[in-house]
Amino acid sequence: MKLLVVGTGYVGLVTGVCFAEMGHDVVCLDVDHQKIELLKMGRSPIYEPGLEEMLRGNIKEGRLKFTTDYALGLKEAEVCFIAVSTPQNEDGSCNLNYVKQAATTIATCMDRYTIIVNKSTVPVGTGHMVRELISKQLQANGKDSSFDVVSNPEFLKEGDAINDFMKPDRIVLGVESKRALRTMVELYAPFNVNHNRLLTMDLASSELTKYASNSMLASRISFMNELSGICEHVGADISQVRKAVGADNRIGSAFLYPGVGYGGSCFPKDIRALRTTAQQFAYQTPLLDAIESVNERQKQVMGRKITSYFGNLEGKVIALWGLSFKPGTDDMREAPSLELIRALLQEGAFLRLFDPVAMDRAREVIPPSPQISWCRDPFDAATGADAVALMTEWKQFRMVNFTKVKKIMRGVAFFDGRNQYRAQELQEKGFDYICIGQQSRKRAKEALV
Ligand code: NAD
Repeated sequence: MKLLVVGTGYVGLVTGVCFAEMGHDVVCLDVDHQKIELLKMGRSPIYEPGLEEMLRGNIKEGRLKFTTDYALGLKEAEVCFIAVSTPQNEDGSCNLNYVKQAATTIATCMDRYTIIVNKSTVPVGTGHMVRELISKQLQANGKDSSFDVVSNPEFLKEGDAINDFMKPDRIVLGVESKRALRTMVELYAPFNVNHNRLLTMDLASSELTKYASNSMLASRISFMNELSGICEHVGADISQVRKAVGADNRIGSAFLYPGVGYGGSCFPKDIRALRTTAQQFAYQTPLLDAIESVNERQKQVMGRKITSYFGNLEGKVIALWGLSFKPGTDDMREAPSLELIRALLQEGAFLRLFDPVAMDRAREVIPPSPQISWCRDPFDAATGADAVALMTEWKQFRMVNFTKVKKIMRGVAFFDGRNQYRAQELQEKGFDYICIGQQSRKRAKEALV
């Protein structure tokens, strides 16, 4: 089948590459000329494990092409995906300008039956809005091409995007025409070989499903983060509690990890957008409100722990291990590390920053400062530091030579924002180990007195 994917970001590029891998003929389009030039050379503008190899293979096989020209992209396309960004407006609502621009240009260049599929995360009603926009544009241009609009939200995780796309838990389709449904079923047939993963529904339900899924996942994180605060006060250990709670089949163990708060390009903006949608109907969302406020508090937790350990941060040297919002990606959007960096700089600390893949993107979003040093590796970052703070649980940080780290540091404090290490092991090596949801040894002793 011949496809056009509009937008070559984390979602559009993975979508295009994976459909090509399954044998479809795909053109990927973006308004960013630099990105398209890079992609034509077989280079991925984003870090996503396995993506670049697949990209090159499919370009070579002739199934994957790139363009900035809508007319060219739509020339043969039977299905056109919209996978452009939907950032948030200042009031928290979803900014649909890129979706509208894409839909209008598609309508201008379309000259026969095409299925337009919304893959971007969009509020309920967007499918109908896109349908109206395209109709009006076609009319204005004196064209009478027929078309259908489908909602097909994407559930991939950055860092494991290829696997998620190739083996999805479910493929959600909001589709209100039989013709479009037949084509969509055929399109997804290669992903559906062993068991049926398709869930078809109306447009509104499909659009809402994406927000509901992200809110559910974020609620589990915020719940565990709130519980971790209670653990610290009462002297319980969140890691033990987590294991026992997750062992219940009705609950399950995924997404129950406490940490430094969620970030990224999806959870924060999607929860705000869903709240704003509800507000438009004067419907209260106390649960969604709490998910966000707990997260805002949690993003400050590392800053508070570091400040309370040192008292005064003026002139202290703090190493940060990991900057991206989670491992496996270079995405820095709403990364909790940014909040910590801002707070520590304000307190007068000097920062030594390291991330295995997100250094370039981090440099783009962190304002230059004489208090910041960009480091080569975790040891370089720890050199001369009074404390190390683990912010992103990259695999490379799991087995670190802590004896060496201890030797090159000036101080002995280790703040583990992702509960990756065993307290006893680090304490035996001479560290003051402080993590999430456990009382520090010093505090526990004080409590006993
Ligand atoms: P992104 O910002 O990485 O990429 C968007 C791309 O769209 C950019 O390359 C931009 O240049 C391009 N673009 C913008 N306007 C355009 C236009 N009019 N024509 C052509 N190209 C245009 O965004 P992303 O992270 O891939 O997210 C895309 C959508 O998918 C969003 O709605 C997001 O919420 C959703 N989503 C993202 C993820 C994720 O993990 N990143 C997961 C699921 C869903």
